[in-house]
Amino acid sequence: MSGKNIFDQHLEVQDKSLFKDKDVLRIGYTPSVIFHRDKEINHLASMLSDALRGQTPSNIFICGKPGTGKTATTKYIGSQLLNKKDQLNRSLSHNVNSLLLPQILQESVEINDRNNGTFDNINSNPTSAYEQYSTFLNRIFNTGDFLGHDLKRSISTNVEFIYLNCKHVDTKYRVLTQITNSLSSESNEPLPPTGLTTDMVIEQMIKHLEEFRGVVIIVLDEVDNLIKKSGDNTLHILSRMNEELELSSTSLVCISNDANVLGNVHAAVLSSLALDINVFKPYNAEQLRDILSFRAAKAFNRSVCPESVINLCSAFAARDNGDARRALSLLMVAGEIAEKSGYRALMEKHVRKAQDKIETDSVQELVSSLPIHCKMTLASILMQHELGNRITTGSVYESYNQICRSKGISNLTKRRVSDFISELGSVGLIDASLISHGAYGRTRQIKLAACDETIRDTFHKDEELNGIIDNNMRSALSKNIFGRNHQTRLL
Ligand code: ADP
Ligand code: MG
Repeated sequence: MSGKNIFDQHLEVQDKSLFKDKDVLRIGYTPSVIFHRDKEINHLASMLSDALRGQTPSNIFICGKPGTGKTATTKYIGSQLLNKKDQLNRSLSHNVNSLLLPQILQESVEINDRNNGTFDNINSNPTSAYEQYSTFLNRIFNTGDFLGHDLKRSISTNVEFIYLNCKHVDTKYRVLTQITNSLSSESNEPLPPTGLTTDMVIEQMIKHLEEFRGVVIIVLDEVDNLIKKSGDNTLHILSRMNEELELSSTSLVCISNDANVLGNVHAAVLSSLALDINVFKPYNAEQLRDILSFRAAKAFNRSVCPESVINLCSAFAARDNGDARRALSLLMVAGEIAEKSGYRALMEKHVRKAQDKIETDSVQELVSSLPIHCKMTLASILMQHELGNRITTGSVYESYNQICRSKGISNLTKRRVSDFISELGSVGLIDASLISHGAYGRTRQIKLAACDETIRDTFHKDEELNGIIDNNMRSALSKNIFGRNHQTRLL
């Protein structure tokens, strides 16, 4: 090889990159400005401001479609809250030294008694006594117990903001231990990831909360995962927590993509939670444009990303549920496509290509993640589609049984398959509309909603189902059991 280093060419590519900082376009990036959510931010901040006064805010529920800014807005409010707390506590010494001096002087007599007259007399040497009391009080504030609870609370603002994402933290044990561990001081061992009973964990959580002496705001993001996986018992425990606490209190912020998830929570739990409900609406194209422009300015080199590209990404994403995630992904993928093809700036055609790529990727991901029987139901629908048949629950069930037989898997009931058809409809892979036949009842007319080629490709790559459609379709055609219209790519 020549004298060139093997990394030279990669560094050159990097130098020519359209991106200045690609990470800015990632979903997890925390923007310093939140656009078009002023009303929501004001309302939530007014509720949570109770915590800064040492009071317990009401519990909050935030729902809205994916990409409506629920997580970004909540985290932004959390960081502002903690900033304000720090700011207030920085003026603690000011409060101690001036505003609360009369109270402190009253306490001082008692301090002096308890310390057997260690301090100088407040009357004979006020400056020195005052300094001694101040040092002593500062130590007390940091370590805890000496002053009455009310006085301590009125002087220091103790607020904690604990954020958990229930997509990952999705069991009662994990939620409760993570809350406890977030409050742990260095002297406490963190709770183990398994092995304790719920009662033991709750006992530890109460102990840590009481030691904290303040208001703890607990955010359960994507709480629908927790409720669907583990029921509402965790919420039940957390909703009753304040009844057990004397020196601290907790307040919940539950966030969900699915507004209906509260339907899975018992009425008694809902009533003790008394949630303040906040709905985040999808963004329109203009709002998305502001969100994207801010990020694009940081993510791309100068003059690389024209306004027309941002407008097109915003328009596509506005059409697609007003989803800021989709808008950001479109811009990032469009940038990658432009860069890979050697362009020096993004163009609208790159956004269109990005739209196709994201669509294909998301269908593939959705299909791959389906449980096996649901996959076989979709495979049956695809077979019927390719055979050109009118697709009904009955005909899908027939091909589903055939696939089960050929795979040696026990089949489920027609009722279960009918449920899978509804699920496939709700995730947007098929349209399954009910058609009424008057006195003769109703049937479901099923159509593929996602691209048939993408679904077929995914099945080809799928380890469990590889070859299943082709083999079954051949056999269906040879037996001629599925219909008359045999226009298929197989023949
Ligand atoms: P959700 O939690 O509702 O699914 P996110 O808060 O994760 O949505 O938002 C998706 C992406 O869009 C994130 O990268 C976030 O920073 C950005 N985003 C969403 N809304 C706004 C907004 N109003 N201002 C700035 N960025 C936003
Ligand atoms: Mg979120």
